[in-house]
Parts: sequence; structure tokens; C-alpha cells
Amino acid sequence: MKYYSTNGKAPQVSLSEAVIKGLAPDKGLYMPEKITPLPESFFEDIENLSFQEIALEVAKAFFGEDVKEKDLKKIVSDTLAFDVPLVKVNARIYSLELYHGPTAAFKDVGARFMARLLSYFVKQQKKTRDVHVLVATSGDTGSAVANGFLGVPGIKVCVLYPKGKVSEIQEKQFTTLGQNITAVEVDGVFDDCQRLVKDAFMDEELNEKYFLTSANSINVARFLPQAFYYFYAYAQYKKLGFDDKPVICVPSGNFGNITAGLFGSKMGLPVKRWIAANNRNDIFYQYLLTGEYKPRPSVQTLANAMDVGDPSNFARVLALYNKNHTAITKDISGATYTDEQIRKAISTCLNDNGYLLDPHGACGYMALHDNLASNEHGIFLETAHPAKFKQTVESVINREVEIPETLQKFMNGTKQSIPMSKDFADFKKLILSWD
Ligand SMILES: *Cc1c(COP(=O)(O)O)cnc(C)c1O
Repeated sequence: MKYYSTNGKAPQVSLSEAVIKGLAPDKGLYMPEKITPLPESFFEDIENLSFQEIALEVAKAFFGEDVKEKDLKKIVSDTLAFDVPLVKVNARIYSLELYHGPTAAFKDVGARFMARLLSYFVKQQKKTRDVHVLVATSGDTGSAVANGFLGVPGIKVCVLYPKGKVSEIQEKQFTTLGQNITAVEVDGVFDDCQRLVKDAFMDEELNEKYFLTSANSINVARFLPQAFYYFYAYAQYKKLGFDDKPVICVPSGNFGNITAGLFGSKMGLPVKRWIAANNRNDIFYQYLLTGEYKPRPSVQTLANAMDVGDPSNFARVLALYNKNHTAITKDISGATYTDEQIRKAISTCLNDNGYLLDPHGACGYMALHDNLASNEHGIFLETAHPAKFKQTVESVINREVEIPETLQKFMNGTKQSIPMSKDFADFKKLILSWD
């Protein structure tokens, strides 16, 4: 299958090139040239299939032309080595718990899949040099990517993060791993880390000597696999005896997660409508209201993984709907929540339903609570474990949040990172020291 750029000024490429490059040369995002609907028979007995079986069918629709079925099957089953249960919150609202992976956030799915697919292509092309994945993180992406690529042969990962700006638990998730993972602690803010990575991609000398790539949600191999769990959510919903289409609500920042769901809809997944829940960074919500897309600098909120002022996957939403605002608002509605409302959502959901939310899931739950019609049922994506945001959550509920075993394991490790200034010259010197 060919992939085109949303900016329309770059040639179409193969899957392997789209995965290895990440961003198109015209700075657009790659999109599959076609979206293949799955047969009705698939949905008829979907409730009897396992997560891996469901995911393989979805994966084949995207990657089946480019990856041998036996290899794709292995990539899918290695990726999904944990469950994504649909849990009842109350009679009308269900939570799709995406936090049972190694770093306790949904990004594990995309990062683990991308690591395996990239490694597959690297092996196929018999590259004699290692591929270096550079990733700037404000917390969650670095941990998912580092853990996803841990021990993958032929690939080295360098995580750049701002000193003192990530939580202890987040930092431990990418500084304690060793092996093929290097962590660099930058004396600056997240934007400095991002600039250093971008400068490295632009540097001729580095690109001649090394094979550098990125692993953010712009990459099709990180973004498309997120469609898997929407189908599995529907299978579980159907198994519970529901025969209507659910409303699905996604806490959104860069809009990769919800866009993967919209791809699912195009493939025939029965969804009544979508809700994108924002925190105060409500650029998309404002777009739905006005038809105007006005990016603005992000503000810091309690749901910090959604602090995005110019969501990169917005270009993909536009491409899916031929830039038609009316069509977009027919399928998707929005919601926006302040920090005060997020705190309130965590406490009311716990009091009303006995269910503990993280600050991101809190936006998702609230958006369903506020917008579901009396004859509708809804599923929200619980994108991270509440313990990842321990301080915030504990300050709301006034009791301790237990850290799950998967996260506890990291806490016992020893931090190892390279301190660095925010000057590109220093970063370049570091890269040139690699063999
Ligand atoms: C990344 C992230 C989001 C936002 O997802 P997008 O795909 O960027 O919209 C929401 N919640 C958590 C916990 C995240 O880590």
C-alpha cells in the first residue's frame, strides 16, 4: 500500500519508507491511500474473537500488503502482551482501561508495535548500521518508546527530557533501563529537547554518518495500531449484551488516538458518534464551534499529556473528511474542562461509582456524563493509570493511591542519565561519540 502526505507536495511512499522517515519531506503526515472496510461477517462474531485475533484482522487491512502474515501475526501478538479490559463504571458508562501495559499508559500499544515493525524493516533492508531513534519527551512518550524498543536488535534509542520537569515515576521509566536506551537530561524545557531533536534531523553531517529517525505519533506505525483496541472495545461491549452502537469518548491532545478510532469507523466499526475531550487546551473544541483552526501556545494543566496547542494529527482529521467542517461536526463533538473541573470529576466519579480516574480519563468520563442522551451508552478511554499522577489524584481523594507492580518495578531501579546543556553543539558532540 502507498502512503501519501497530507500536504500533497511529496511523492507517495511505501510503508517501510513512511515508517523509517516518520514525517513526509513536505512536513505533511503520511496517510494510507485507501481504508479497507472489514467484512460484515467479522463484526457478526467479533465477540468470540480474542484481542490478538481482532487486532490481526485490523492490522492486515493496513499492513497486509507489505508485511507477511506470519510476521505480522508475531508483531501483533508480541505487541499486545497485556489486556485492555472494558470495565463498567455505571449503567451507562464504561471505561476502556488502556493502562495495563508496561508503562501504564495507552502509548504502549503504538510504541511497542512501531518498535517491532521498524525492526522488521531494518532487518529486511540488511542495514549494516544501527538505527538511532531520537525522542523528545515531556514524560509519557519517552517511557513508552524506550520500553517499546528495549532490547530490540539493530535499534538504539536516545530519550531527551527536561531536567526537573518530569515526575519521578516518569523519569525512572526511561532512565533505569540500560541496554540500547540512553537518557539525556537537558538543562532546559521540553521545547529545547524538541528543538535539539529537530536540529539533529536537519544536520547534514549527522545524517551522512548515522541513520536517525523519530518515534512520535506522527509516525504511521505508532498511530494506526491504536485502532486495534477500539474494535476490541466493541467486541467486549457486544459480549455484555448491548445491541446498540456506543458513543466513544477520547481524551485528546495531539489527536492521534481519536484519529485511529475514526479510521476504525471508516472500516465499519459500529460507533454512534465520537467525543473529543480536551483540557483547557481546547483548540479542537473551538474549531468545532467556529470552523476556524487557531493554534495557540499550550498552557500547563493537570492532564499534562493533553497540553498541546497545535495538535499534529489535526491534519489527518481534515484529510479523512476532505476538510469539510460540517461532516466533521456530524461525527465528532467536543468538550473542554478546567483543572478545577478535572479535580471535581475525579472526586464525583469515585463517590458516585467507586471508580478512580486519572486526570486524562477524568476529562473523558466527564464528557460522557455531560453529553450522553438518555437512550445512549458510552465508552471512554482511560488512557493512564491513576498512580502515574499520584500527587494530583491523592490531593483530590485524600487517600493513598497504590502503585501497580509494573510501575513499582521501575521505582526500584537506579537512574542513569547524561546531563547536557540545551546547546545543539553539545548534543552533536554526544551523537558523534556513538559508533
Ligand atoms: C498522549 C496522551 C493523551 C493524548 O493522546 P493523543 O493521541 O495525543 O490525543 C491522553 N492521555 C494520556 C495519558 C496520554 O499519555
